[in-house]
Amino acid sequence: MGATDGAKRLTREAAPTILKLPVLPISYGDAEHFLSALEGRVVPASWRGGLAITYHAGGTDAAKAHIVVKSDWSLKTLYDVVAVMKGSEHPDQWVLRGNHHDGWVFGASDPLSGHVAMMAEAKAIGQLVKSGWRPKRTLVYLSWDGEEPMLLGSTEWAETHAAELKKKALVYINTDGNARGFLRVEGSHSLESYVAKVATDVVDPQTGVSVDARRRAHAMTASGSAGANERAKEVGKIAADPSKDYPLDALGSGSDYSSFLQHLGIASLNVGYGGEGSGGGVYHSAYDTWEHHSKFVDPGFAYAGALAKTTGRLVLRMSEADLPVQRYGDFANTVATYLDEVKKLADKKREEQTAQARMFAANAFKLSDDPTLSSGLPTPLKAVPYFNFAPIENAVVRLKASAKAYDAALAAKGAALPAATKGKLVELAGRTEQALLMEPGLPGGRGWYKNMIYAPGRLTGYGAKTLPGVREAIEDERWTDVDTYAAMIGKALTAYADRLDEGVALINGPSASAKAPGAR
Ligand SMILES: [Zn+2]
Repeated sequence: MGATDGAKRLTREAAPTILKLPVLPISYGDAEHFLSALEGRVVPASWRGGLAITYHAGGTDAAKAHIVVKSDWSLKTLYDVVAVMKGSEHPDQWVLRGNHHDGWVFGASDPLSGHVAMMAEAKAIGQLVKSGWRPKRTLVYLSWDGEEPMLLGSTEWAETHAAELKKKALVYINTDGNARGFLRVEGSHSLESYVAKVATDVVDPQTGVSVDARRRAHAMTASGSAGANERAKEVGKIAADPSKDYPLDALGSGSDYSSFLQHLGIASLNVGYGGEGSGGGVYHSAYDTWEHHSKFVDPGFAYAGALAKTTGRLVLRMSEADLPVQRYGDFANTVATYLDEVKKLADKKREEQTAQARMFAANAFKLSDDPTLSSGLPTPLKAVPYFNFAPIENAVVRLKASAKAYDAALAAKGAALPAATKGKLVELAGRTEQALLMEPGLPGGRGWYKNMIYAPGRLTGYGAKTLPGVREAIEDERWTDVDTYAAMIGKALTAYADRLDEGVALINGPSASAKAPGAR
């Protein structure tokens, strides 16, 4: 339910998502007073910050502070700007494209550097229309309000129009702050090859090669640098192999795609350039200004242009393609890697617990502790049972087979299909991602997040957790949830595979499916 004019509202006390402890960011100048008043033990090296003080924890009553937090709880009206251009052939198939317009202060980098690219893109499409061209599908351009406080403008709009969006939306393409550097795209893995094709067609403003070639070169060199993590090494290997598409990263949260992907199950992308501008330090502050952005983050606005060319192509290819742009093998293979990861995570947890139990049995924590400055005992880890991953394992096998059959059938027969069948296939592809939604959503008061594959982590802020119901249950020692959510993920992937089979049946036509009744 969107927070529209007449919507029923919870009181603050009744709202389970408003935490009971007030949280307030403060400046380092204020923090220094509090931190330097602490007199307890010197904290471990990894807890220390950059202030010119010795960092202590705890201490005496002298370090007690009385803090009053005043919050403005009044209701404010948000203004989303929604521009719709009706499609000439498939008006009920929508391509959604958005960026927020609100900023914490001036917001030159965040969000306006992405927003101007979206405006440029819309202007170019407007010029095409003046020349007599019409998009085949409906384009919906969305300029969001209230992103910074809590993705509010996009969330309320998505909730208000949920039923219609679930019927009509094919994709949501998001941008936000943008900077000089390398193309970065996160999103639904069925869209991986479509994004990769667009990236090979956009020219990098600094080097003249494609933005795909440039990001591949960057990933290759970064994977060889000291401190490269496992993922960077893996991406570097893929980037070095020209037969492979550059991989998408999974979406967590922190911008307006959340409602579309994680609540409504609409395939989503988040697109931006970055890595070479010097934007550090001004994020969300009064120093994120036009002067700063134009001088240090994207001089000459070259990458605003590159972004408009990238997202403009994504929008137009989705709106003009006769056939689905999805390639489901990429999704199936990616989910298989997530399954491997959670299985390894469970094994690692089990080994850690076994090792710790051995240390407790040998009284090792007590005996190794400094008796004059005790750190106390660690919290005992819970014994880790063996989980039933079979529902996901079986569903992944099925998903891989269905994806392979779909991709092959579409490649072989797609082009020759009648226009009506092509249209139906695109519509079905738009709905396919919704199979990943499961009631009652994620546990722990996070039922709003219904996508069983992609979610922001409960404690990771912007970071993604894939197969979140299982991964976070293992991390948090909620063992019964592991099996419960493994079953739900299995169901979601099977429902997804069912839709792919529906697509294969459409491609093969009634005569083919009559020959093989019930073939799955
Ligand atoms: Zn932003």
